[in-house]
Amino acid sequence: MSESEPSMPANLYPAADEWQAVDRYFTSTLVGEDDALITARASGAETSMPNAEVSANQGAFLGLLAQMVGARRVLEFGTLAGYSTIWFARSVGEDGRVVTLELEADNAVIAETNFRTAAVADRIDTIVGPAAESVARLIDEGTEPFDLVFIDADKPSNSVYLAAALELTRSGAVIVIDNVVRNGAVADADSTDLRVQGVRQVVNDLASNPELDATALQTVGEKGWDGLIIARRR
Ligand code: SAM
Repeated sequence: MSESEPSMPANLYPAADEWQAVDRYFTSTLVGEDDALITARASGAETSMPNAEVSANQGAFLGLLAQMVGARRVLEFGTLAGYSTIWFARSVGEDGRVVTLELEADNAVIAETNFRTAAVADRIDTIVGPAAESVARLIDEGTEPFDLVFIDADKPSNSVYLAAALELTRSGAVIVIDNVVRNGAVADADSTDLRVQGVRQVVNDLASNPELDATALQTVGEKGWDGLIIARRR
């Protein structure tokens, strides 16, 4: 739901304008981004993946989900400008912790500025480098388990990140995986898009793991047609 997709052909998605209008309506009525979130979103333009953050409605959903499960510790794969990170940091509260993993040092600098603006920098650890390596270190160090994991980095590595998430969580933990519909391409078993195959592989992993309950939700809105998986450890 957050990754920038190729622009949608207008004739294929004639309702795209309406999806965006509905997003704007709910954002303006229910969500109410404050200045810090607006600044974080705008700063995404300076990152390596402009416009790839979650929408305001999606950020609010993630924040609410974290609150609903009483998450005190959140692990995020893929920081970008820290937009979704701020939603999580606000949800975990003053005593909570968010660990966010980002490949690009320049993105992390932008994100950390946004964390200070949002007054949540003291509850966020940003780890720069390939997330597979960062998370392997967290496992080696015996890091305290996380209550919620948000997987939103390079899609071909989804399976690696799920396996790491399982090392770093315990019963009751929630795992959310973003961008799993990809304009419908996920249903194409023969897709040559490695991001699509990354989603299909992690779906297989989830489906074959008796420890996990999972479902997927399709979404439309200002980010086009996409969706997310929500899984929970039994
Ligand atoms: N979660 C962010 C939000 O909603 O505000 C958006 C994250 S964006 C979709 C994906 C991010 O993952 C980018 O910042 C990208 O640099 C990062 N990324 C890509 N490959 C990575 C890797 N191997 N390790 C860590 N981060 C990676």
